[in-house]
Amino acid sequence: MADTTVTMDKIVSLAKRRGFVFQSSEIYGGLSGAWDYGPQGIELKNRIAHFWWKEMTQLHDNIIGIDAAILMHPRVWEASGHVENFTDPLVDCKKCKTRFRADQIPPENLAARKCPECGGELTETRKFNLMFKTTLGPVEDESGLVYLRPETAQGIYVNFKNVQQSSRMKIPFGIAQIGKAFRNEIVTKNFIFRTCEFEQMEMQFFVKPGTDEEWFEYWRDQRWNYYRKLGIDMNKLRWHRHGPDELAHYAKDAYDIEFEFPMGFKELEGVHNRSNYDLSRHQQYSGKDLQYIDQDNGNERYIPFIIETSAGLTRQLLMLLCDAYEEQKVADKGNEDDWRTVLHFHPDVAPITAAVLPLMKKDGLAELAQDIRAELKEDFVTDYDQAGAIGRRYRRQDEIGTPFCVTIDYQSKEDGTVTVRDRDTMLQERLSRPHLSEYIRAKIKSYKRAERIS
Ligand code: ATP
Repeated sequence: MADTTVTMDKIVSLAKRRGFVFQSSEIYGGLSGAWDYGPQGIELKNRIAHFWWKEMTQLHDNIIGIDAAILMHPRVWEASGHVENFTDPLVDCKKCKTRFRADQIPPENLAARKCPECGGELTETRKFNLMFKTTLGPVEDESGLVYLRPETAQGIYVNFKNVQQSSRMKIPFGIAQIGKAFRNEIVTKNFIFRTCEFEQMEMQFFVKPGTDEEWFEYWRDQRWNYYRKLGIDMNKLRWHRHGPDELAHYAKDAYDIEFEFPMGFKELEGVHNRSNYDLSRHQQYSGKDLQYIDQDNGNERYIPFIIETSAGLTRQLLMLLCDAYEEQKVADKGNEDDWRTVLHFHPDVAPITAAVLPLMKKDGLAELAQDIRAELKEDFVTDYDQAGAIGRRYRRQDEIGTPFCVTIDYQSKEDGTVTVRDRDTMLQERLSRPHLSEYIRAKIKSYKRAERIS
């Protein structure tokens, strides 16, 4: 019996083999903490982003989006507390030179200042700021100091008034943003789980003080249901509430949604009640009035509380790969030991929605298949493959998680029908060509996560 356990090695190998994720600058030996997204990876990433964006903006009347710059005024990061506090405790081994986060090595090693790798002596713990610094303009001195943003949220806070006034938003309302963030992480193992360059999907929801607890509950519910909609195995998700020692000093309450990755339960996204800290600090540091004026309530003024939902886009991509991955024994007659690797992505996020496969290249089947593909690609991301045995072509599509394989055979030529193979059940249905798009659309809409064999 083969070992079908999902391991990070299997995920990394499939991700490379099938063009999801490559090591950055691989031909130069790679760069730790940075990864490139290949043809399947970028489709998957774009679709996750779209799924989240639709969920947060299109399906919520009171949430609108922005796209703020990565480079911001350096005072932003003083106001936010990042210059002072966005640090990890760092220790180095004097012997093997390995660098550790002091909070991630066994406490007994830290107490004895003994390297967990080689037993050598550890340095004293020092604070290490995770923000990347660079300079703006031609002179490389402190006057041009800027940071690469370590989170997207601050771009939302500093635009609170711009957005509220230009879009005439009334509290409660939210601002959503997807974008790159950079952190000089000390430990970047586990593939794309923790990287120095990554993408976040954040939504900051502005509420009247006193209503924050209610909205906090609401957003915890919404974010949990998002993963259900995405077709994730809900048994692999859990809540983690921040204890008093984890809670940021300004946060009123904070929960993380954790996913069971191959290396154990790890944070996927945070839902935080940030109190009125952010706008108060920016008001103080910028000298601008960031109070909301409630015109429906006698022009009452207040600094809104913020409920934040903060998810990692690239981390969600890793979660989807881990959750979707299955090695499955396929009980083909006469071939008892046939296996396939399949990614059971929700069809809304699968990199390719439909692959068009002529049974044979000859006898006009390829031309007919190309013609059908040309029609389908107006509505869906499609692939076309005519190389090799049909069974092998199905397996290739299974490995990248294509939910529908449209096969064109001799009967197609005669009566204008095609077969559609379902990735999860491997069952085929024959239907007439004019119904194809509508059929695929209906299937996507009614998609339910399939029961896994393993
Ligand atoms: P940690 O304590 O693990 O360093 P964090 O709690 O500081 O992370 P947040 O600042 O709350 O993380 O970031 C929100 C989300 O952004 C995280 O839940 C995660 O999905 C994502 N994220 C944070 N840091 C990274 C990173 N280095 N690489 C990839 N994704 C990240």
